[in-house]
Amino acid sequence: MSKVVIITGASRGIGRDVAYNLAISGYTIIANYNNSEEKALELKNKLKEKGIEIDIFKANVANKDEIVKLINFVIEKYGKIDVLINNAGISQEKLFTDITDEDFDIMMKTNLYSTFYATRETVKHMLKEKSGCIINISSIYGLTGGSCEVHYSMAKAGINGLTKALAKELGPSNIRVNSIAPGAIDTEMNKDLSEDDWKQIIEETPLMKKGKPIDITRCIKWLIEDEFTTGQVISPNGGLVIT
Ligand code: NAP
Repeated sequence: MSKVVIITGASRGIGRDVAYNLAISGYTIIANYNNSEEKALELKNKLKEKGIEIDIFKANVANKDEIVKLINFVIEKYGKIDVLINNAGISQEKLFTDITDEDFDIMMKTNLYSTFYATRETVKHMLKEKSGCIINISSIYGLTGGSCEVHYSMAKAGINGLTKALAKELGPSNIRVNSIAPGAIDTEMNKDLSEDDWKQIIEETPLMKKGKPIDITRCIKWLIEDEFTTGQVISPNGGLVIT
């Protein structure tokens, strides 16, 4: 059987591009979504037209029980998970003092706790196989911090911490754990950026262009097939951030 890959948040944006292209490349895909059922169905049907079947599975990753249902569904159907891509995420721009308890709570649950719980549930099965690849989608803000995005930056920095610690623990079991920290990518998450905002970002970016979902997909494809990279935070960002 081809590698079984779970992608959270695969109805739109980066996750959708990853799901589509990995399916085309022959991987077995389970595409998670939450609110965008129509878009998830559209993805499934677009692939079906090409003779490719994928599973779409509704689960709110901010809810641990729903994550457990997703992982159990995949194990019952396929008996293994080769790759977990923790991609689902939300962003919010607010002054630090305006961030409410509810804003903070939902940010942490959606972006950070989800990664912890989905990874923990998955690793139980990967350990039996003595093989696995976990890819956590972080952000440049997890490296540099983003003004007016303190809670988002905290969550993404937490993901990088999880990645590094877990890579050390799971390396001897042949399970690789890495983060991808994208720069500015043209998706709905950035729908509030004006043309002038983008112009400024592009001017500050050495490669002088905006990022596209496919830039992240390419990095993910490479990480899945790689055999000697773990514990790393890889940042496709056009050179906007060079550490
Ligand atoms: P996007 O276009 O807004 O798409 C977000 C995806 O996450 C959607 O498929 C959405 O699904 C899903 N999602 C959100 N909350 C969820 C929940 N509670 N449960 C399950 N799925 C949920 O965002 P994107 O730009 O593709 O971002 C993908 C990841 O990349 C995020 O982790 C983001 O932080 C990270 N990132 C993005 C950028 C960027 O510039 N775009 C930069 C750095 C990092 P539904 O619509 O079905 O709810």
